[in-house]
This record gives sequence, structure tokens and C-alpha cells, in this order.
Amino acid sequence: MTYIIAIDGPSGSGKSTVSEILAKKLNIEYLNTGLMYRAVTKYFLDKGFGENTDDKILKYLLDEITIDFRDNKLFLNDEDVTDRLRNDQVTANVSWVSARDYVREKMVDLQRKIAENTSFILDGRDIGSVVFPDAKYKFYLTASALTRAKRRFDQGESDMTIEEIEKAIIKRDDYDSNRKVSPLKVAEGAIVVDSSNLNIDQTVNKILSLMGKNDVL
Ligand code: C5P
Repeated sequence: MTYIIAIDGPSGSGKSTVSEILAKKLNIEYLNTGLMYRAVTKYFLDKGFGENTDDKILKYLLDEITIDFRDNKLFLNDEDVTDRLRNDQVTANVSWVSARDYVREKMVDLQRKIAENTSFILDGRDIGSVVFPDAKYKFYLTASALTRAKRRFDQGESDMTIEEIEKAIIKRDDYDSNRKVSPLKVAEGAIVVDSSNLNIDQTVNKILSLMGKNDVL
């Protein structure tokens, strides 16, 4: 029997690191859905378009995009762009891109197809609420904004100070939580895990302890 684990939560809560380790431990596949929205954002920006661009043009561009994963690397129109998706420019623009319903529709369809016949752990904002509302396990991973900013800073992929990252995180949380389509929220039936005072291993173990014995080998 295949099963789905949904891990949602705000940026920097440790979702991707925790999900990657969990997937290895459980011997199941992992999909980072945030990377998909980042890839679309990169494509729009590379073509020279932004938040004020007409939806008709953005829809047209969206149709040109193919996204697929090989060995946990994201290929945008057959090019591996994984290492170019976490920079400040993409991060500052991803919220308005992911708030467009036509972008979400395409990404959600793709996520459902990818995870159709195999056990998967998916991390994102709307996995337990929209993409897989019937997921066997649903977690909402969170932490204080300052903790999350420090973690992002330590990843070394931003040129900003911790304070600046914290401000940007609060702004993105606000945008993600208040958008009309699929806002970030605790999905029905999800268990909230606050990792402010937990390291990665402790967070992984906490989640494993909340899962059924049959699925934890
Ligand atoms: O997870 P990450 O921080 O890389 O996600 C980047 C952005 O993509 C989020 O701030 C959010 O706007 C969007 N996102 C989303 N739904 C998902 C995953 C990410 O709207 N399932």
C-alpha cells in the first residue's frame, strides 16, 4: 500500500531538510513543491516580466514551461536549475507568482501526477489542505520567525543580514497566509510540530514517533 505524508508550514521551518531525511529513513520518495513555484518564478523573471505583467502574457509563458525531477534535481525545460532557485531575487518574487490561480492549477496537477502510484513525502504550503487532503499523515512544521531567519542565514544562500531575512520571512508568511487561493494554514487533521527548540534530528524523531508503527520500519 502506498501512502502520502504532507508536510506544510512557513518558510524556513525546516520542512525540506526534515522531509529529505524522513524520506531516506522511510525509503520513500520526496518532492519539494516550493522548488516548483520557484522554477516558474525564475522563468518569468528571466523573460523580463514581473508582478505587474498582464495575466494573459504570464499564462502564455506558463504554457511554455515543463518541470520534471531527476535524482531530486529540478529540470526547467530540460535544464537543471536546482542551484539557481534559492537566490534573493527568486525568493522576493515567488509569493506573487504562487498566488496566481492558473500557476497553482498547473503545479498541483503535476504534483498529483508525480506522487500518483508511489509512497511520497511532499513539502509545501497546501499539501494537506488542497493537493492531498486525504494524505495518511499530515504535519504542520513551524518555528519562530527569528529561528527561521537564522536557519536561512546559516544556509549561506542570501546576501542579507539575519534581521533583513527575518523581515522578509514575516512579509512572505503574511502574503502566503492571506492570499485568496490555497493560503498557508494548518490543514484539517494536521499535527502541529514547533521546531523552535528542536534540532533537525529531534524534529525527525518527533515526526516518526507520531507515525504508525507499520510505516516506520
Ligand atoms: O518552500 P519554499 O520556501 O521554497 O517555497 C517558496 C514559495 O513557494 C512560498 O513562499 C510560497 O509562496 C510558494 N509555495 C506555495 N505552495 C507550495 C509550496 C510553495 O505557494 N505548496
